Amino acid sequence: MLSQNEQAAFDQSSANVRARAFHHLRVVRDVSAAVGFVSNLHHAVDKAGMEVNERGPAMECRAGCSHCCSVRVEATDAEIYRIAREVGKRPADEAHKLLGRLEDRVSAGDYGIESPRRSPCAFLEKDLCSIYAVRPAVCRKAHSLSVRSCLESAREIPQNMEMLLVADALIQGISDAYREAALPSSAHELCKSVLAVLRDPGLEASWYGGESVLPG
Ligand code: SF4
Repeated sequence: MLSQNEQAAFDQSSANVRARAFHHLRVVRDVSAAVGFVSNLHHAVDKAGMEVNERGPAMECRAGCSHCCSVRVEATDAEIYRIAREVGKRPADEAHKLLGRLEDRVSAGDYGIESPRRSPCAFLEKDLCSIYAVRPAVCRKAHSLSVRSCLESAREIPQNMEMLLVADALIQGISDAYREAALPSSAHELCKSVLAVLRDPGLEASWYGGESVLPG
């Protein structure tokens, strides 16, 4: 729960992000640029993570540590289309295997963020993220200050509040800017939505036309 001052600072920060992002999004000329614009969010969250980490306390996440890759993950519309585009460039056999994992994960059923149920993300391969370069902002902001808490599946994982607030202000500001530019932007379950786009690539054009077409 944020104090009044913290909430005001958060609102101001996300409003600043929205204004800057909308300035660029309103002149976007095609769907590729609209989808690609979300990379600015990803770079900004990564940069914030590095800066916060340098100031400390240090995050204990390491490559191959994938504890946080087994919970429900949500991504915005532009992020989903960016990921689907990346998957679409893969060799047919790789894409086919991934499609199978997405179908398995989706058929296992959906569950809420707070649910104790865990199931590995379909993009997780040998404990590494196979879409690391285009992974959603929520995966970029996820971190732990205590790997022990992760290993023990603690209910509360110690995290850096500053990192979470900076990332959330960026996520909200960019989402608001997309909506202001008449491009739907809300949170969708990652695997279900990417699967929907892979099955029907035409969804991307509908989104660019202003329709909210992704599930969940
Ligand atoms: S997209 Fe990548 S980082 Fe995010 S939960 Fe899935 S495997 Fe983990």
